[in-house]
This record gives sequence, C-alpha cells and structure tokens, in this order.
Amino acid sequence: MKKIAIIGFGAAAIGFIERIKDSNCEVHVFEKSKDIFSSSISGIRADGKLFVSKEMGGNIDVDVKLQKKLVDFYINHTDGNNIEKGHSFKNKDYYKQFYKYGFMPVLSDFYHIGTDQLKIVLKNIYSDFLKYPNLYFHFNKEIKEVERKNKKFVLNNEFIFDAVVVAIGRSGHKLIKHIIDKHPDLVLDNTYVDLGVRIELPNHIVEDLNKEMYEFKVKYKSKTNYMVRTFCNNPSGYVVRENYGDFVTVNGHAKMHDKSKNTNFAVLTTVKLTQPFNDPIGYGSHIAKLTNILAGKDKVILQTYDHFKKSKRTKNLYRVMPTLSSDKYILGDINLAFPRRIIESIIDFIENLNVVIPGIANPDNLVYAPEIKFYSSKLNNEKFKNLKFIGDCSGYTRSIIYATAHGFLIAEEFL
Ligand SMILES: Cc1cc2nc3c(=O)[nH]c(=O)nc-3n(C[C@H](O)[C@H](O)[C@H](O)COP(=O)(O)OP(=O)(O)OC[C@H]3O[C@@H](n4cnc5c(N)ncnc54)[C@H](O)[C@@H]3O)c2cc1C
Repeated sequence: MKKIAIIGFGAAAIGFIERIKDSNCEVHVFEKSKDIFSSSISGIRADGKLFVSKEMGGNIDVDVKLQKKLVDFYINHTDGNNIEKGHSFKNKDYYKQFYKYGFMPVLSDFYHIGTDQLKIVLKNIYSDFLKYPNLYFHFNKEIKEVERKNKKFVLNNEFIFDAVVVAIGRSGHKLIKHIIDKHPDLVLDNTYVDLGVRIELPNHIVEDLNKEMYEFKVKYKSKTNYMVRTFCNNPSGYVVRENYGDFVTVNGHAKMHDKSKNTNFAVLTTVKLTQPFNDPIGYGSHIAKLTNILAGKDKVILQTYDHFKKSKRTKNLYRVMPTLSSDKYILGDINLAFPRRIIESIIDFIENLNVVIPGIANPDNLVYAPEIKFYSSKLNNEKFKNLKFIGDCSGYTRSIIYATAHGFLIAEEFL
C-alpha cells in the first residue's frame, strides 16, 4: 500500500481525494486550519461561483464533461440543490453586440452556490470522505518543511511518505518559497500580475445581463495595448476587504439569501513584464501598500468614477451607496497610487463598455482600489515522480473547478 501525503484541504485536494479514495493508497491530509469549520480553511468559502468554460479558470486543458461532473459534485453536496445559474454569451445577440465594439466575449456556464451555502458544502464533502478507512485527516497541522530523503519525502522532519501532493493554494506561499529555495529549477515562469479596481453600481444598470448570464465576462485590448477584462461579477452582492497580512485589497461576493441593491465586478489589467523583472508579487504588493498608506492603515480607497477619470479626490457620494462598511475605506484618489498606464487602460475599457451597457460609466458609480490578483509561479510537475503541485499553488489554476480538476487529473496519473 502506497502512503501519500496531501498538504492542504482545499479545492485541489478535494479533486485528488475524490479520484483516489477507492484505491488501495493510504492517504493523509495535513491542513493548517483548526478544523473543518475554521474561517481560514480552503478557498471554498467565499461566493462559490462555479463555471464550466474552456476559456478561463486556468492554464490546463480540462474536458468540459469533467468540469460539469465536478460542478455537479459540489452542487450535490449542498443541502437542497438550491443554486443560481447563468450562461455567458450563449445568446448570440449579446455576443454580437459586445463583439461589435471590440470586446472578446468569454463563453461560460455559471452555477452560483453563494457564500452562505459554501460552508455546508465543505462540511458535507468532509463527512463523506470520513467514511473511507484509507483516508486520514490531520487538522491544525501546518507543514513547514518538505525534505527529500532516500527517494521518499519527509514532512516537518516527522512524517515519511512515498509521495507528496502539495495543494496549499495561494495562502501556502511560505511553504512554496521554502521548496523553491531548495529546488529553484522547479520554477518555470513568474511574470504576470493583474492590477485593477472594483466597480459598484445599482443593480438595474446590469439587470438584464445579470439575469441572462449571472456573470458577463469580456476581454478587451485597450488603447494602451494591455488586455483588460471583467472578473468576478456579483449581482446583488457585497464588496469586501481582503486581508493579505501586510496589506489589504478589495474583493466581492454574493450570498444566496441576503441580497443587496448593488452589483459589483472587477476590471483587471494584466501586466506581463520581462527580464530582468522577476517579482510580480513584489510589484503588486507595493502598489497595494501604497494605496493602503494613502487610505490609512488597513483601508482601501473609494472614489466616484467621474473623479477617478479626472484624478480628483472624492469627498462626497451621490446616488450609489457602498456595500463595504465605512470603517474599511477612505474617500480619496486612486490615481495617486496606480501607474498611469493601468488607469488609462481601465478608463478606456469602461468608456467603451458604456457604449454597450449605458450607465456603466455614470459619474457617481463607485470605484474601489486596490483590486489585485496574483499568479503563483508556474511549477514543474515533471521534476519529481513523487512530488506534485496541484491547484492554485502550482500556477496552473485560478478557480475552484480548475483546481479540483487538476487534483482529479493528477490522482489519475498516480493511479
Ligand atoms: C475571496 C475569494 C473568492 C473567490 N471566489 C471564487 C469563486 O466564486 N469561484 C471560483 O471558481 N474561485 C473563486 N476563488 C478562487 C478559488 O478559491 C481558488 O482558485 C481555489 O480555492 C484554489 O484551490 P486550492 O485547493 O488550490 O487552494 P485552497 O482552496 O485555497 O486550499 C488550500 C488549503 O491549504 C491550506 N494550507 C495552506 N498552507 C498550508 C500549509 N503550509 N500546511 C497545511 N495546510 C496549508 C489552507 O489552509 C487551505 O485550506 C476565490 C478566491 C478568493 C480569495
């Protein structure tokens, strides 16, 4: 019987376990969070927008049938299969309308579980896994060291395994750094970062799109030559602050039951820098920290769209009221913290989007910053036969379904 360790119990680990649970492998899961109810456990705790798409979610090829199977796996672990759905650009009229103005519509099916239902899903999946005698869960166990000894791997100088699967998402960056420091040739690529803002506006402006698609995903090559895109649309949702430890950013989510009057979505500019640059996380973090310095410690900047365009500090709001509570933002000027090329790309995108969706560029719509998405370094999964990286920490995925699928597919390789 082969002994396998999985570090982390998030989306990728779930996919791996689901595929390997019926084998004769002995599988030990080490999770740093206290227990399955901990608010820090797994990326499956906010929003839970699952999608089936060939065009986004990660840089691995995942068959749409497998994607749908995994979506169903999550939905089947809700208590009543009560979810919201949408189809991005299945409707050809919408497709043509956006295409005409230079947008690249992204095709996808959406299934929204909601932040409130997600914790039940995670608990139900865990309860099912507990029924398998070959699966062992070790909570409150942060793995800090992974050492190679006699072709096996030793965790924290304590536990010896035939194979190790690292599934620690983005929050596990310290352990990834520790492993990379020992094996620098594991890194294949690390040059991207997404910088942008989160827009919040009244539901009625995007009501039809929300009903049809749930999330409208478009990309656009702006006049600066940067690719800009919408990301993480939350109908009747909430803007939230995300804490990275030494800086804060904005994010958004929506609940199944408790609805707001606003929709929020991110507008992100993808920045790819070339040699000698090799620190996209450092670059993005510095911009976030600069924004936080201006906003006061642990706060983000909120500005009206008109002032964002004119680089003028916002002092008052008009018709649109923020869903983020007032102790978490300061009214200010994002232009003091963000590079000009990023700001120009975002404005060009929004002005053009306003032609297709009138009201998107209303002067009193809200703009929050910093909204930053980091990409993990792409790691080489071919270097060791018995050390694999799955999910977001591998640099190949950026979503629940792609991370779960990555785990599932790597488990298939093991089998
Ligand atoms: C606020 C927010 C909202 C999101 N909303 C969506 C969404 O709606 N739809 C979507 O598709 N994606 C969403 N995502 C992205 C999604 O959560 C991730 O892509 C996905 O969870 C990645 O899965 P993973 O298994 O790689 O990592 P995770 O799910 O993050 O799991 C990693 C696990 O490893 C544990 N861990 C970390 N380090 C260690 C260590 N050293 N030792 C032991 N355990 C460790 C962590 O505690 C965690 O439980 C969202 C992300 C965020 C931050």
